[in-house]
Amino acid sequence: ATPTAIMVGTGRGAKNGILIKDATSLETACKVTTVVLDKTGTITEGAPRVTDVELAPGVEADELVGLASALERKSEHPLARAVVGYAAESDVADEADVEDFEQVAGGGLAGTVAGYHVLAGNARLMGQRGVDISALQAAADRMAADAKTPLYFAADGRPLGVIGVADVVKPTSRRAIERLRSMGVRTLLLTGDQAKTARAVARQVGVDEVIAGVLPDQKEGEVRRLQEAGEVVAMVGDGINDAPALARAEVGIAIGAGTDVAKSSADVVLQHSDPADVATAIELSRATMRNIK
Ligand code: ADP
Ligand code: MG
Repeated sequence: ATPTAIMVGTGRGAKNGILIKDATSLETACKVTTVVLDKTGTITEGAPRVTDVELAPGVEADELVGLASALERKSEHPLARAVVGYAAESDVADEADVEDFEQVAGGGLAGTVAGYHVLAGNARLMGQRGVDISALQAAADRMAADAKTPLYFAADGRPLGVIGVADVVKPTSRRAIERLRSMGVRTLLLTGDQAKTARAVARQVGVDEVIAGVLPDQKEGEVRRLQEAGEVVAMVGDGINDAPALARAEVGIAIGAGTDVAKSSADVVLQHSDPADVATAIELSRATMRNIK
């Protein structure tokens, strides 16, 4: 494109809060065939809240919430903040020290709290550590069918309960997906969350393809796989774990409210954190490239 066309396109983007860092991405965006979207913080608000507490037989709510929150205080994860916030609202003591703290990528947390070895995380982590969660499975499945993320907790190898955490879908997510579809662009949800929850969120917003249970270091590989299949990929994300995938995609698009790492790895930053601006950015590129032919 001519420098003038690029300048006009970039300027129009900036006016709409779409920060395009370089000319190449404005030229490439019109060729995008697949938009890959992260779930938490991209499609959803990224501020999850506790909605359900289901106890294992013989366990008291304060026991579960107290141990869970004491461990989650060590984590910066949005899911962890939800549990800690819930304990505070419920006036449950969670001041116990944590020893031998461990973060398991794509799984959760482990640590010794008040003499117990406490685990917090998904079914995969519980399986890996030999915790039998079958008594909680039905409750967790109900939460997941409601688009909630079930978090399992265990102490000394025995299940304590499952806490359901819900994250509200952004008001414009559904419209964003609709617009991309009408533009002939395929959409795909890529998340570390479990399949059932991811599919429920996908249904709410109209995304038809889901890749779930993806470990933080596997997101980039999923983008590469799509590229090898001939797709021109735009990746949209906000997290540290999205950064390699943002850099790998033909067009990396970061959510403005996201982490600095995501924003510096991306070609485009959506300052209003609105997923609908992904469609606007592609339209802008199409208009720019049409005008210069
Ligand atoms: P995402 O941010 O897309 O959910 P992560 O890799 O951070 O991806 O987490 C994957 C899954 O691991 C979460 O959905 C959750 O089930 C579990 N998990 C991660 N961190 C925590 C935590 N602090 N407490 C409980 N579970 C966690
Ligand atoms: Mg995210």
